[in-house]
Amino acid sequence: MDRPLLNRRLASLGTTIFAEMSELAVATKSVNLGQGFPDADGPAEIAEAAANAIRSGRGNQYPPGAGIPELRRAIADHQRRFYGLEIDPGSEVLVTAGATEAIAAALLALVEPGDEVIAFEPYYDSYAACIAMAGGIRVPITLRAPAFRPDIDELRAAITDRTRVILLNSPHNPTGSVFTGAELAAIADLACSRDLVVISDEVYEHMVFTGEHVPICTFPGMRDRTATISSAAKTFSYTGWKIGWVTGSPEMVTAVRTVKQFLTFVSGGPFQYAIAQALTLPDDYYRSIAADLVVKRDLMCDGLAAVGFDVFRPDGTYFITTDIRPFGDVTGLDFCRRLPGAVGVVAIPMQVFYDDPEAGQFQVRFAFCKRKEVLTEALARLAGLQPG
Ligand code: PMP
Ligand code: GLN
Repeated sequence: MDRPLLNRRLASLGTTIFAEMSELAVATKSVNLGQGFPDADGPAEIAEAAANAIRSGRGNQYPPGAGIPELRRAIADHQRRFYGLEIDPGSEVLVTAGATEAIAAALLALVEPGDEVIAFEPYYDSYAACIAMAGGIRVPITLRAPAFRPDIDELRAAITDRTRVILLNSPHNPTGSVFTGAELAAIADLACSRDLVVISDEVYEHMVFTGEHVPICTFPGMRDRTATISSAAKTFSYTGWKIGWVTGSPEMVTAVRTVKQFLTFVSGGPFQYAIAQALTLPDDYYRSIAADLVVKRDLMCDGLAAVGFDVFRPDGTYFITTDIRPFGDVTGLDFCRRLPGAVGVVAIPMQVFYDDPEAGQFQVRFAFCKRKEVLTEALARLAGLQPG
């Protein structure tokens, strides 16, 4: 066959860096601080609820396309409890196969070929792929070290007549930046005045240490032009269950559902029952997420700085960005490919999340959603690195 199998739009995509690094971690028996997944499961009662649902035959056959009513109601209740939003569970909520499918379905629904999609780089890797699948053109706005703030003037200048979507992610993976109310208000103003839609990936909504998480859909004029996305993976530490969701106006949810039904149709029946229960956990549970993580953030930030990294302390998420230049003249990608063999630790090179070849060349991300003893072990191993 002369023609390559992978279509031209996706030709530049290879294996994801997460898969490459997780495989390397297994092969070298390294401490895996690369791909972001917790090494302890979420609440045991929620796992029990999933097992009970399977045993009692709830969700074992195709659940409703939009998600089971119990989960849609629980998502609407969550939005009311934390953000004062009134959402109709019948028409304004869609359950998806993780936030990953929500992002894909939203982009495929909202973007026409040739439309421009503005996203803040470094971006979560599925963004570039899904924009490409939708035939869109991605337009990066770079969040720059050390503070990783969005430059609103740059955003304003990047908007053209072809711009359709601003793809937002706050708290932001991988930088840990949490957009302020003023920054979100400015982005919302631009979305309204230029008639854009916003896809807002809020999967780290309960992992904020400094500042607070405010959904952009709560700003004036934003309710009907925002698709808000979140996931049980992060909030309840069950990344393998793949239960995510989209909330928005009935028109927005219908548009995204129209695509979702041809991607997976439905997903995770029994897990949907379990997550419906998880969402009703008391406020104490939600508070404990950030309270537990902030201790680990500080342990890791201080430890990484002591070992010699330049550390950018995150305001949210469970990722820390570092600059590796104190270790000599090596790019993040080379550094991360060598690190498992050298000291038995896996991290993620951030240059793969940037279009700008310069911006993230020396940045490396460490995930700290791990047990404390695992983090301590990783730091002990990293102490074997020689600053250059
Ligand atoms: N968005 C961001 C920013 C993420 O970090 C993740 C985590 N993988 C996702 C989306 C995907 O979430 P899910 O595992 O629910 O598909
Ligand atoms: N969100 C996680 C991370 O950024 C997981 C990525 C993935 O599995 N695709 O590491």
